[in-house]
Amino acid sequence: MTISTEIIERVEQLRALINRYNFLYYSADEPEVTDAQYDRLFAELKQLEIQYPQLAAADSPTQRVGAAPLDKFAQITHSMPMLSLDNVFDEEELTAFNQRVLDRLNSREIITYAAEPKLDGLAISIRYENGLLVQAATRGDGAVGEDVTENVRTIRNVPLKLNGSNVPEVVEIRGEIFMPKSGFEKLNQQRLANNEKLFVNPRNAAAGSLRQLDSAVTASRPLALFCYGLGELQGIERPASHTEAIQMIREWGGAICPDIEQLQGVDACLHYLHQLGERRASLPYDIDGVVFKVDNAVLQDRLGFVSRAPRWAIAYKFPAQEESTQVLDIEVQVGRTGALTPVARLQPVFVGGVTVSNATLHNEDEVRRKDVRIGDTVIIRRAGDVIPEVVQVVTEQRPADAIEFVMPVQCPVCGADVERAEGEAVARCSGGLFCGAQRKEAIKHFASRKALDIDGLGDKLVEQLVDAELIKDPADLFYLTKQQFAALERMGEKSATNLVTALEQAKNTRFARFLYALGIREVGEATARSLALHFVTLDKLTAAKEDELIEIEDVGPIVAHHIYTFFQQEHNLDVIRRLLAAGIRWPEEKPVYADSALAGKSIVLTGTLESLSRSEAKEKLLALGAKVAGSVSAKTDYVVAGRDAGSKLKKAETLGIEVVDEATLIQWIS
Ligand code: NAD
Repeated sequence: MTISTEIIERVEQLRALINRYNFLYYSADEPEVTDAQYDRLFAELKQLEIQYPQLAAADSPTQRVGAAPLDKFAQITHSMPMLSLDNVFDEEELTAFNQRVLDRLNSREIITYAAEPKLDGLAISIRYENGLLVQAATRGDGAVGEDVTENVRTIRNVPLKLNGSNVPEVVEIRGEIFMPKSGFEKLNQQRLANNEKLFVNPRNAAAGSLRQLDSAVTASRPLALFCYGLGELQGIERPASHTEAIQMIREWGGAICPDIEQLQGVDACLHYLHQLGERRASLPYDIDGVVFKVDNAVLQDRLGFVSRAPRWAIAYKFPAQEESTQVLDIEVQVGRTGALTPVARLQPVFVGGVTVSNATLHNEDEVRRKDVRIGDTVIIRRAGDVIPEVVQVVTEQRPADAIEFVMPVQCPVCGADVERAEGEAVARCSGGLFCGAQRKEAIKHFASRKALDIDGLGDKLVEQLVDAELIKDPADLFYLTKQQFAALERMGEKSATNLVTALEQAKNTRFARFLYALGIREVGEATARSLALHFVTLDKLTAAKEDELIEIEDVGPIVAHHIYTFFQQEHNLDVIRRLLAAGIRWPEEKPVYADSALAGKSIVLTGTLESLSRSEAKEKLLALGAKVAGSVSAKTDYVVAGRDAGSKLKKAETLGIEVVDEATLIQWIS
C-alpha cells in the first residue's frame, strides 16, 4: 500500500511534537500542554502506526518510555527496566483488554486482578541491600534513570531500613512519589505569598520537588511514597502474586495505598472503577485513573511485555481534570456586596466531567499575576466539585492581538465609581445604595435592628419586594402604600398595616443610626456615631473632604476615602434626598463639648439601670465625649453600678476605681 506524503509528514510531526512534550514533561518539569492533549496526540500516532505498519520505527515515542535522564543528575542503569503502562479510556476498552488477556492465555477462567489507584506522581525505584536503602532512581527512559538517592532519603514515609524476618539481600521496591493534595495546596499558598511560580497540579509539584539538586529543597516539600511493585530481588523467592508482593513490602515497612484491592474478573474491575471514580475528588491524593494488574505471577510471565509496557497490566484513565481552551472575553461581575470579580468567558471545554464556559479570575491582581489576556489559550482545571480555575496561560500560543484586561472605572451594573482601597485586592462599586447588584443587601442592612430598625421588614420580605420590582433602593420603601404591601404573596391586611406603622415609626431616628444604615463601606456603628457627633449635620458631613474626615477618632485614610467617595456618587445622594423628603428625621446632635467634665473619661456600665436602658445611657455618655468600655481595668475612670451589679463592681473595688450610682449618672447626662 502506498502512503501519502501527508500521512508521512503527520507521523513525523506527531513524533517530533511528542518528543518535545516528553522532554518538557519528564525532564524539565514544565509541561506545555495538558495530559489530555498529549494523550490525544499519542493515540493518533499509535493509530497511524497500526494502520501503516511500514511507518513503525524503534525510536518512535510509542515504543519508548519517558525521556532520557538529565546530565545534571548522576545516572543509574536499572537492573530491570522500569516500564510504562498501556492506557484505556472507557469500559469497552477495559473489557477488550480482559479479552486480550484471556485470548493470549488461551483461557476461559476468571482472571484475578489487583486493582490500584493510579497515583499521579512519578515512578521511583528504591534499592535496599541487606535491608538498608542504598540507592533511589527515577524512571528516566526506562533503562537509565536519575540518581535521586539523597532526595528520596528525606521523604518521611520512605523506610531507610527494612524490617521483618525475611528481608532479602537485594530488593528494588518500586512505587510512586506523590504530593498529597493538602500539602500541594499549602505549598502553592506559600509560593503565592513569596511571589513564586505556582505548580499547576500535584504531579507537577511532586516531580519538581523530587528532581532537585539540593536535597534540602526536597526535604522541605510534603512528598510521600506508595509502593506498588518489585524490581530486582535476590536472596528470597519471588512472590507468587502481585498481592503477595504487596503484602511482603508492607511487612518490610513500605507504605501501601489503603485503597488497593484484589478482584475476581472484569465485572468486579468495572465496579471498583465506578466506586473509586466517585471517591476521586475526596481522596487525599490525586489520581488520574486505576491500574489493573493480572495478579498471578506465572500468568504475568506468560503474558510478557511489549516494548514499553507489560501486557498483564492496564491503566484506565479517568476524564482529564485539565484541558486547554481559549479566553473569549474577560467580563466583570458585581457581587451582592459590590465586589467586582473578573470572570473569563471561555470557548466551552469538557473538563473534569462537565462543560466549562466560565472561570473566575478572582481579582485584578490575580489576572496580572497569571497574565491572562483576552485571546489567550489557557489551561483550565476542574477537580471534583471545585469551581473551575485558570491555572496557567500557554504563553507560547498567545496571539499578537491578545488584549490585556483593564478593571473598569465605572460599575458595569450602575455606573458608579469603582474603588479599590490601598492594600486591598478587591475593587468595589461605590454605588452601595443604588446599585442593582447590591440592592437586596443594601436594603436588608438599612432595615436591620441597629440601623433603621424597621419592625417586620425581614430578609425574605426585602427579597420579595425587590424581585417584584416594587423597590430599587431603601427610599422606595417609604413611598409604597398599604395596598401595595397587602397585594404581596403571603402578606395579610394586618401585616401590611403593621409594616406601614413600623415604617412610620422608623422615620424618627438618630443621625448616627441613619449614617450606619447607609451601609458605607467600613462605617460601623461606632464610626457612624463619631461622624454624627463630629459633623452634627448631614450637609457638613457630605461636604467634608478626606483630610477633614481623617481628624475623627477611628477614621483612617481608607475609611475616609470610602466615606468621601460614597457622598460623591450622585445616585447615593439622590436616594438620601428622597429619604429625607419621605420624612426621615432625627433630633439635632449636640457636638462634643471640649469642656465636658466627662470628655475622654473611660466609663464602665454594670448592673441593671432603672430609669433608662444601658444602650441609651451609653449613647448619652458618648455624646459627652466619654468612652464606654465593656470591662474594668486600671484605665477605667468610673464604674456606674446599677442594681445587682456583680463581678465588674467587685473588680472596681479591688482596683480602687471610683464607683458611682445611677443617680450620679442621671446628673451627668441631664
Ligand atoms: P502513565 O502515567 O500513563 O502510566 C505509567 C506510570 O503510572 C508508571 O510509571 C507509574 O509512575 C504510574 N503509576 C501510578 N500508580 C501505579 C500503580 N499502582 N502501578 C503501576 N504504575 C503506577 O505513563 P507514563 O509513561 O508515565 O506517562 C504517560 C502519561 O504522562 C501520558 O498519558 C500523559 O498523561 C502524561 N504526559 C503528559 C505530557 C504533557 O506534556 N502534558 C507529556 C508526557 C506525558
